[in-house]
Amino acid sequence: MATQKSPSIAVYPGSFDPITLGHLDIIRRAHRLFDRLVVAVANPLRKSPLIPLDHRVALIQEVVQPFPNVTVEKLEGLLVDFARAHRAVAIVRGLRAVSDFEYEFKMAWMNRRLCPEVETLFLIPSEEYAFLSSSLVKEIAFLGGDFESLVPPPVARALRTYVSQHKDPGETFHEPPESGL
Ligand code: ADP
Repeated sequence: MATQKSPSIAVYPGSFDPITLGHLDIIRRAHRLFDRLVVAVANPLRKSPLIPLDHRVALIQEVVQPFPNVTVEKLEGLLVDFARAHRAVAIVRGLRAVSDFEYEFKMAWMNRRLCPEVETLFLIPSEEYAFLSSSLVKEIAFLGGDFESLVPPPVARALRTYVSQHKDPGETFHEPPESGL
């Protein structure tokens, strides 16, 4: 009797404050490798995000519409619990430069210790996105530079609104990556 293979599911976690073309590049690559990709949107642990969680989820849902096997959910607890609950086989992370490596490596080891059955898979973006980060996009936006070519159009519109409302940009800059666990 033929046994049915269970679908391969991966989780792509991050704070996505905001989602950039670099994140989207990783989503485009990862969605081809798995039957389903769940983008898990977290709040940074010790910072207030510029864009509220529900709005970040809605924006990502809008920009991943071309990928029918990609869904978007809030991530509120431990990443490995989320991965287990979704029966995920992998956690996807993006690697831009050597500077990402140490943090990502630690996080992957720790997640393996917490949940040995889930692998962390690192993907490398197109080189045009290798310099791109959410904090850099926010910094450029607050300083009045051209950030529109770095994020999808609905995100650029939202960012313009948040930047014009936000009076204290300092706390949203240079956040350390924190949502890998
Ligand atoms: P976190 O707070 O977990 O670092 P981010 O939203 O900043 O969340 O990033 C989520 C994931 O996407 C991380 O693995 C990060 O390295 C990756 N990433 C961020 N920007 C890029 C980019 N330009 N190219 C490739 N990967 C990226």
